[in-house]
Amino acid sequence: MFGFYGRILTVDLTNRKYSIDALAPELLESVLGGKGLGTSLLLSRNPAGADPLGPDNRLIFATGPFCGGPVWGGSRYGVFTKSPLTGFYAESYSGGKVPEAIDRAGFDAVVIEGASDRPVALAIHPEGCAFHDASSLWGMETYDAERAARDSLGVDKPGFGAPGAVVIGPAGERLVRYALIANDFWRCAGRAGVGAVMGSKRLKAVVFQGDRKRGLADPRGVRAYASEFAKAGKENKGVKAYKAYGTTMMVALMNTAGAFPAKYWSQGSCDHWQKISGETFHKEHDVTPHACLKCFMACGRMARLTKGRHQGLQLEGPEYETIYAFGGLCMIEEMDEIVWLNDLCDRLGLDTITAGNLCALAIEACRRGKLDLGLDYGDFEGVGRLIQDIAARSGHGALMAEGIIPTAEAWGLSDLAIHVKGMEPPGYDPRALKGMGLAYGTSPRGACHLRTTFYKPELAGFIPADAIEGKAEMLTDYEDRLTIFDTLILCRFYRDMYTWEELEKAVGLVTGLDASREELRRKAARVLNLTREFNLREGLTAKDDRLPGRLHREALPDGRSLTAAEMETLLADYYRLRGWKADGTMA
Ligand code: SF4
Repeated sequence: MFGFYGRILTVDLTNRKYSIDALAPELLESVLGGKGLGTSLLLSRNPAGADPLGPDNRLIFATGPFCGGPVWGGSRYGVFTKSPLTGFYAESYSGGKVPEAIDRAGFDAVVIEGASDRPVALAIHPEGCAFHDASSLWGMETYDAERAARDSLGVDKPGFGAPGAVVIGPAGERLVRYALIANDFWRCAGRAGVGAVMGSKRLKAVVFQGDRKRGLADPRGVRAYASEFAKAGKENKGVKAYKAYGTTMMVALMNTAGAFPAKYWSQGSCDHWQKISGETFHKEHDVTPHACLKCFMACGRMARLTKGRHQGLQLEGPEYETIYAFGGLCMIEEMDEIVWLNDLCDRLGLDTITAGNLCALAIEACRRGKLDLGLDYGDFEGVGRLIQDIAARSGHGALMAEGIIPTAEAWGLSDLAIHVKGMEPPGYDPRALKGMGLAYGTSPRGACHLRTTFYKPELAGFIPADAIEGKAEMLTDYEDRLTIFDTLILCRFYRDMYTWEELEKAVGLVTGLDASREELRRKAARVLNLTREFNLREGLTAKDDRLPGRLHREALPDGRSLTAAEMETLLADYYRLRGWKADGTMA
């Protein structure tokens, strides 16, 4: 079979054993790789009701059929597990250079089960894996851990490419429920707490290395396709915009649209937006485009601060979502300080979206006399202290490390807290972009912008942002196409270039499978049903697809709102289009 290795590695950390098994071609043909394979394995191997931080919860790494080959935007890996933040399905993706090392190890997926009784690191290669003592890595921040694991656990074998490491930081070790898995220092599988699952297994690092390459159905055709694709792509307006400013360009766009969540979801814009905009950031600091492998878009920003108290600080970032979380929700007006907070979260291994949301909730708790921290909007020092407390589980950080639901309950602020299924939304207010309300509600991992990126058609005017009619239909089309992206695994920012027609060509050339749009949509629907099946099995009900009441009760200052009745219509349309019952269960 082309485009796949046809094998998986299962690692049992409890007994320090591993096995290599062949994958049934029918399975790959049915759901492809990446998310399709990862979800199918999670559903079949995790026992129902498994404790997300217990040994039964599988942690699955997968690459897709485009990884390691000439197709642009395919240098990515995905992580699939049960989320310790939501108790439901978790998927999280990352790019960089490490995905190609993961791919060269020659497995479509690596399933990690059990738990070690002491810190451990794995070195995975085409023949299996080695178990290494990781006590010297335990306690290290992510940058140091990645460097040390990569430099000490790789092997010098003829034909093997450079090793690549994925690691957790102190937050993952301490089971903070929104800890991330990091690679390439600043890239990460950031959401839904996949790093805490790794920490629960006492797995500090996984180093991948090898000499394998996926077979292609039409190698010459794939190369010619990729070359034409790059020629067209480099002239694309969107590509030029991403290359110029990366995702930081979204600050101005979202603020102008009045959909930039600020002051803990009480505003859709903020007065200080220009101070934290991409344009100002690029003017005031040393910022250059930085790309994952096989990418001509280079949305990453390699930044070095040229002035202020953090002068010299260097990192890849910050992304729009980090700017929104600290600059918008926490109202921090200094870009240098947002960069510093970004660096802090990266080092400690924390998701910046969830961390920023929780810090803003803590500010509200202080303002309402529920918390005695003296924290207020704009207090970057206080936010920085809180982040360190969360990662260390000290003081109020111990509670906040458990996630937004228990934290808001303990502070008596459940009515104020903004989340879906226990995960906080990124920076797109659904009262201004109503389709994002449906996207947040139906995403299997909680409030997530990436499964449909539906802010794009709403901001671009492909459909009016305040429309309800026809929205679920357009959203399911986006969701189907981007679900195929996740099975391949393709970078989201190529979404305007890999139209259905382009996907048909690329999937056909790489895999040789029937890649008609109809067949790809059937595959997408199958994968989405698998994720739904997982969540229903873990106790999800239609109630969990609803937005927090506050987003319906409170309009934005400019009067825009998303009513509960509108949300019901959106959900009813969505369930019908997915072929699900009116209560969100499946036939
Ligand atoms: S657009 Fe950005 S995230 Fe996507 S592959 Fe390129 S550099 Fe990586």
